Amino acid sequence: MLYDVLIIGGGPIGIACALEAKKKNLSYIIIEKGTLVNSIYNYPDKMTFFSTSEKLELDDIPFVSNSPKPSKQEALEYYRRIVESKQIHIQLFEKVERVKNEDHVFTTTTSKSTYQSKNLVLATGFYDIPNYLNIPGEDLDKVTHYYRDPHYYATQKVVVVGASNSSVDAALETYRKGAEVTMIVRGEQIGERVKYWVRPDVINRIEEGSIKAFFNSELTEIGEDYVRFKDKNGKIQTLENDFVLALTGYRPNFEFLEKMGIELSDDQLSIPKYDKQTMKTNIEGIYLAGVICGGMETHKWFIENSRIHAKMIMEDIKS
Ligand code: FAD
Repeated sequence: MLYDVLIIGGGPIGIACALEAKKKNLSYIIIEKGTLVNSIYNYPDKMTFFSTSEKLELDDIPFVSNSPKPSKQEALEYYRRIVESKQIHIQLFEKVERVKNEDHVFTTTTSKSTYQSKNLVLATGFYDIPNYLNIPGEDLDKVTHYYRDPHYYATQKVVVVGASNSSVDAALETYRKGAEVTMIVRGEQIGERVKYWVRPDVINRIEEGSIKAFFNSELTEIGEDYVRFKDKNGKIQTLENDFVLALTGYRPNFEFLEKMGIELSDDQLSIPKYDKQTMKTNIEGIYLAGVICGGMETHKWFIENSRIHAKMIMEDIKS
C-alpha cells in the first residue's frame, strides 16, 4: 500500500497529525518505536504538567482533569483513549531505521517491516538522547539521565546535576523521601524557567540547608562511592555519593534528520530548516511536527504551542 503520509513518532503531536490526516481522508500510519506516547510514559511518575488540561487537548477532544494541572497518569489515559476511540492506525514497538526517497515515494524501513508513502512527518521529539556530561564514571549503574520515582533513593546520598524543572523536581522529591541531596549547578542560580510555584520551594530548602547546592560548579568525575566536582573557586571537592541524577536535558536525533537530507542551522542550535506556514522541510514531502522543530532549543516547542502543526501539515498535503 502507498500511504498518503507516514508519521514517525507516536507522541501527542504524532497523534494530532494522525487525527488531522483522518479528518482530511488521507491514508496514514504512525510508526512508534516504544509504547504509546513513549516520552510521556518515561517522564517522572509523579510529574504534573505546567499546562492546564485544555491546552494539552488534541482536536478539541475534551481532556477532563480533576486538578488545575493534569498528572502524567491522566495524560496517558487521555491520549490512549483518543487512539482507541478514534481507531488511530499506529504500529508500536517498531523503530524507524532508515528512509529512502526515490521518485517522490518514501520507502521507510523499520525494525519489523517496510512501508511506502508519498509524504513523511517527523514527530520524533527530543527525549531519546540525553545531553551527556562526558566525564569519567558516567557509565556507572548508579548514574541515570532519566528520573522516575523518589522512593528508590530513600536514605541515600544523591547528587542532582542541573537546576532546570526536571532537576528541581527530582531534588525536592528525593529530599522529601529521605535522601541526602546535593545539587551541582553550572549556573549561578536555580533556573529562571523553573515552574513559578516550585522555584521558591527549592530556594527555601537550599537557604535553610535541607538541600545542599553548589552553584558555578561542575561535576568532573563519578566513582562507585564518591563524586568529584570543581567548585566556584576552581577547587576540586569530593563528596561521598550513592547515586547521580544527571538531568541535564535531552537533544533531538540530528543524525536521523541529516541522513534524510534535512538542513540544520550551522550554529550550536542545529535548528532544522522548515517553512513556517506549512512545516515542510527543504526536502519535498518531508514535514516536521512538534518539539523537534526547535533543534537544541528544546524548551521552545511543546504540546501546547505545537499541536497546531498537525493542521498546517495536513492542509498542505491535501492541497
Ligand atoms: P514526543 O512526545 O517526544 O514524541 C516523540 C515520539 O517519537 C516518542 O514517542 C519516541 O519514542 C518516538 N520516536 C523517536 N524516534 C523514533 C524512531 N526512529 N522510530 C519510531 N519512533 C520514534 N508540554 C506542554 O505543552 N505542557 C506541559 O505542561 C509540559 N510538561 C512537561 C514536563 C516534563 C517533565 C517534560 C520532560 C516535558 C513537558 N512538556 C510539556 C513537553 C512535552 O512533553 C513535549 O513537548 C511533547 O512530548 C512533544 O511531543 P512530540 O510528539 O513532539 O514528541
